[in-house]
Amino acid sequence: MAQILDGKALAKRIREDLKKEIDGYLKKGMRNPSLVVILVGDDPASKVYVENKRKACKEVGINSLVFNLPAETTQEELLNLIKKFNEDDDIDGILVQLPLPSHINTQKVIQAISPEKDVDGFHPLNMGKLATGMDGAIIPCTPLGIWIMLKHYKIPTFKRDVVVVGASNIVGKPMALLFLRKEEAPVSVCHINTKNLKNYTKTADILIVAVGKPNLITPDMVKEGVVVIDVGINRTEDGKLVGDVDFEGIKEKAQAITPVPGGVGPMTVASLLLNTVSIYRMKHGFTPHPLTDI
Ligand code: NAP
Repeated sequence: MAQILDGKALAKRIREDLKKEIDGYLKKGMRNPSLVVILVGDDPASKVYVENKRKACKEVGINSLVFNLPAETTQEELLNLIKKFNEDDDIDGILVQLPLPSHINTQKVIQAISPEKDVDGFHPLNMGKLATGMDGAIIPCTPLGIWIMLKHYKIPTFKRDVVVVGASNIVGKPMALLFLRKEEAPVSVCHINTKNLKNYTKTADILIVAVGKPNLITPDMVKEGVVVIDVGINRTEDGKLVGDVDFEGIKEKAQAITPVPGGVGPMTVASLLLNTVSIYRMKHGFTPHPLTDI
């Protein structure tokens, strides 16, 4: 029976530690770290994600400024708002919740955020630093959260065969790049055009699935002793949240597995807090937060 990698408990510990750290800065007379979160339109899932981020910020002492902009907001208005916060020294991080309405060019918006304030790590400069192994990359929150979780639960990663299913810029690609840094482990990345997914997943010591399809990965597709990280968030007809992996079937074969909910999701939010505090620390002449400095 697999070890359950409890992201919820670990994220709680990280928030408690961050709260103590931020309290320490306030006692020294420093300001709170600050994060601007911009949501355009009223996508229900995005609203829930933004609310979770706001609550988590409040809990640890990060000032969050949440902007709920109407769906008709123009690209120019959004870019102007980003420019204003890029220039505001009291703002550490800027996050624009994706997806954006179709009349707004997402690439332009991502590139408009100052790379130093890019808490999501989606700016090409941060992605480029990650891809080339340069210092100072801000690492996208979901891959960072997964990395922290693997290290915390002492899952060996060095020279393990890693398979990432899903190749989005937000999760799959940066996840693969993290393993490629410093030649940590060989990685196969699968996507919609992978001819026989099982051929790859069967080889995985560590399998990371970020697709958005319930039950995509079934027990016959993995080997005994695999470590499974399920990033997917899918809502079933009866309103339950499930991942991309047949959790009940695979937990009998796996060495370790993340649950949905309670696995990767809370770690993604914890990583957002860590990235914000890391930027704040560097602005004040300190080292980056050790958990983000990987
Ligand atoms: P995305 O942008 O839609 O990317 C999904 C990826 O999976 C794409 O590369 C897609 O290829 C590929 N794919 C689609 N069908 C496939 C198949 N049958 N076999 C193999 N690959 C396939 O999604 P995302 O933003 O990466 O998110 C993925 C899932 O993770 C979603 O359920 C999302 O809600 C969840 N998520 C969770 C968290 C968290 O914190 N837990 C964070 C982010 C995302 P094509 O693009 O070529 O179709």
